[in-house]
Amino acid sequence: MKKIAIMGAMPEEVAPILKKIGTYKTTEYAGNKYYEATYNGVELVVAYSKIGKVFSTLTATTMIEHFSCEVLLFSGVAGGINPELKIGDLIVATKLSQHDLDITVFGHPMGYVPEGSVFVETDKDLLALSKEVADELGKNVIEGVIATGDQFVHDEKVKANIVKHFNADALEMEGGSVAVVCNALNIPFFILRAISDTADTDASFSFDEFMESSAIISAEFIMKMVDKVISK
Ligand code: SAH
Repeated sequence: MKKIAIMGAMPEEVAPILKKIGTYKTTEYAGNKYYEATYNGVELVVAYSKIGKVFSTLTATTMIEHFSCEVLLFSGVAGGINPELKIGDLIVATKLSQHDLDITVFGHPMGYVPEGSVFVETDKDLLALSKEVADELGKNVIEGVIATGDQFVHDEKVKANIVKHFNADALEMEGGSVAVVCNALNIPFFILRAISDTADTDASFSFDEFMESSAIISAEFIMKMVDKVISK
């Protein structure tokens, strides 16, 4: 059975996962803590990266290259764009982009750099497994595009611009970079987010109120994903 990486960006996103796992070994590496455990016979490595594309790139790479993880599951919170997504609802990424990657002055589309791609697609098998989990839990999980950038979006105009370029359903600050890492290193990955706010003028207040409860909703689903991956 493959060694599984479970990643979040903030402590609150991995706390419910560590609670469920119970006992684990803590290793400090490259300025972060990595929590190693055996869970139902499978090796897990859990970590929160700290916020943003750079820290999440470092952590995803470390989990794969240093801790030898072979599949990566991300759990966390996001700002909703798709009006169907309410606070606490789950979105699974089908593909991700970097909404703040801009060399458009050279005639390229937003989010594109030479030898890269605007979107990175997530693993189809893990998507299929998440459908099974959603059905079993009787949960409505939306599949869609997630846009990532190094900013907390709290503005309708910024949101509209992200929709224009990427037709995104949700936005956050780590998924797109984790996707680039996993794609380059050939690691199947899955990005799940529960909505904490809707990236509008009230976003920071909504985030403060709902981040923890939404992080728990996402973490619970991720642990069901782990069970599902193990059962296959
Ligand atoms: N409250 C934190 C900062 C949170 S930044 C502090 O003061 O330390 C927002 C985090 O949640 C990021 O990890 C990002 O991935 C996610 N997120 C949720 N809503 C978001 C939004 N509207 N825009 C960007 N990221 C968002």
